[in-house]
Amino acid sequence: MASEGENRTTLTPDTPVQYLKGVGPRLAARFEKLGIRTLADLLEHYPRRYLDFTHPYPVAEAPAGVECVVQAELLAKQGGRYAAGGRRVDKATAGDGVATLELTWFNNPYTIQKLEVGQDYYFEGEVSGGLLRRRMTNPQVRTAAQVSDAPLAAIYPQTEGLSSGAIARCVAQLLPHAELLGDPLSPALLEKYRLPGKAQAVRDIHRPPAPGAVQEARRRLIFEELLVLQLGMGLLKSRGSAATGAPMRRADPAPFWAAVPFAPTGAQRRAVDEILSDMAGETSMNRLLQGDVGSGKTLVAAAALWAAIGAGYQGALLAPTELLARQHAESLNRLLAPFGIRVALLTGGVKAAARRTTLAAIRGGEADLVVGTHAILSEGVEFARLGLAVIDEQHRFGVRQRGALADKGANPHLLVMSATPIPRTLGLLIYGDLDISILDELPPGRQPVKTRVMTGERRRDLYGFLDRQIGQGRQVYIVCPAIEESPDGGLAPVKTYYEETAKALLPDRRVGLMHGKLKPKEKAAVMEDFRAGRLDALVSTTVIEVGVDVPNATVMVIENAERYGLSALHQLRGRVGRGAAESWCFLVSDNRAETVQRRLRFLCSTNDGFAVAQYDLETRGPGDFFGSRQHGLPALQIADLAGDTRTLHAAQREAAALLAADPLLSDPGHALLAAEVERMFRRAGPMN
Ligand code: ADP
Ligand code: MG
Repeated sequence: MASEGENRTTLTPDTPVQYLKGVGPRLAARFEKLGIRTLADLLEHYPRRYLDFTHPYPVAEAPAGVECVVQAELLAKQGGRYAAGGRRVDKATAGDGVATLELTWFNNPYTIQKLEVGQDYYFEGEVSGGLLRRRMTNPQVRTAAQVSDAPLAAIYPQTEGLSSGAIARCVAQLLPHAELLGDPLSPALLEKYRLPGKAQAVRDIHRPPAPGAVQEARRRLIFEELLVLQLGMGLLKSRGSAATGAPMRRADPAPFWAAVPFAPTGAQRRAVDEILSDMAGETSMNRLLQGDVGSGKTLVAAAALWAAIGAGYQGALLAPTELLARQHAESLNRLLAPFGIRVALLTGGVKAAARRTTLAAIRGGEADLVVGTHAILSEGVEFARLGLAVIDEQHRFGVRQRGALADKGANPHLLVMSATPIPRTLGLLIYGDLDISILDELPPGRQPVKTRVMTGERRRDLYGFLDRQIGQGRQVYIVCPAIEESPDGGLAPVKTYYEETAKALLPDRRVGLMHGKLKPKEKAAVMEDFRAGRLDALVSTTVIEVGVDVPNATVMVIENAERYGLSALHQLRGRVGRGAAESWCFLVSDNRAETVQRRLRFLCSTNDGFAVAQYDLETRGPGDFFGSRQHGLPALQIADLAGDTRTLHAAQREAAALLAADPLLSDPGHALLAAEVERMFRRAGPMN
């Protein structure tokens, strides 16, 4: 903490972590990587697990190759030296009468300086070597006094340049001030569920006085987190059930279907009918359109927009990336211009002058349909009469964006679209406030994408195949890890791969490069080149993951496929197989771990997105599902939606009771709870 004399009254949950002693801009940036900006974020960065110092191993019995705690007496210090290359090496020997433990520290003379020969210590690290002469490198050391003070040592999720130990030291500075968080739970709730107070729980989870204390602390923190989540969802839900600001008669979709270039699938017809009925109701529509990649959600959205605009309103469509926004603007323009509908594009990449004109057209009502990125949500954007808001690839947006878009009109109808199938139990929880239409039918003539797993050794053969496909007039995608995703240097980042692999192995072909660091205009230009057939192959990071639609592309190659979840791989695969031609997806991975191979082989066995999501959920658990924010739900710090069901039900009950008494959480007694809801949903902001 800052020096004693300093005024502490300014300390709030929102105080930046830089306030802590020893945390400067560089360390703050690393904290930021872990999503930690403020003191509250740090206090809520809970340990991943604990090292239990209360049951140390004797030297001979310590398991090899896993982190563990060994208790032994320090027998001798060998003194330090500098090895070739300037590395400082310090050695010592410890033992317990049965076996000895050789200790080595690199570049850390300080630890050993503090140790006394003849004293008992706890050494924590990985043990190697023979049974009677064992070794430990860079162990952490604790005295008996330290262990009785804190018997469990917290291990934190860490990041490069910010170790668990460094995080622990920062947390330790802060723990005496845990009260700054306040307690969002009322004394009545604490009593009813026999929960510890907030500060107590936070202290205990970081520095448990005994193993049992962790359970109690967790129970309390999980309850609070789930309560806050349910309150947030409840607040959203209540705004949806109000009378609609865009009443309309039920439209007959026949003229629309007659004018579009293909006959709708049965599923598309059904979804459109459901939407049109919803929009003719007295309350505003809140509907989720769920359909696997390639099932034709855009056409359904177009029909809904056509109906709303035909009834005299404006429509808006929000897409997660600039690329998708442009693509949607084009295809919707193609579908809707014949009806005299005027489409405007609004993204961060639109120039100031054009933007002013567009804003005026939106405000004046000359623009019927506005397609864009979250630029649409910014303050200067005012609609004359927004009647229907559509959100594409909804899992990329936070729940709050949904609300923000709806706030642009007088309670307009809302349609959200998602390609990520959600197992039913979780779906009810996440989308409890939405009605659901499902597109369970692909447009006719599609062939399933053939999926294969292979190793990098066969890359040349693979490129030969790509070359032949291109020779037949087809196009191919090659996805590889992003630039910033390869700190280990073990993976060729996208640029190197582009130069040294893709261009080298396709010397006579036109190969493009796309990644997240390009400016929006550059991205659009590359994409346009690919779409127009001026590029044969596109090397890209996962920025092309969602929505991109180029029916002539027939091959998707995914390098380092082991790095992605199955749902993400399925999304990528969905970029091909969009036309009538035979299509392939190659999952390239040199990772031979059985679990990895089994996962990838599973993807080869099915093209059903629902089965893929279910498999992901079962093998990787809901933590991953939510951790990767697949559904736009706020990331949870501690609760596990599938595992903590009893607590979830209790939280649901209490949230309903709280909202029944205070629908907007405006009661001063609920101020802390309201602030927590705000904080949780703010964290769930848009990705990228
Ligand atoms: P997604 O559901 O993944 O967003 P899109 O809306 O991008 O799917 O549609 C995928 C492709 O299928 C597009 O090329 C689109 O033009 C085409 N498509 C959509 N509906 C039909 C249909 N009823 N018949 C034939 N092609 C269709
Ligand atoms: Mg789409």
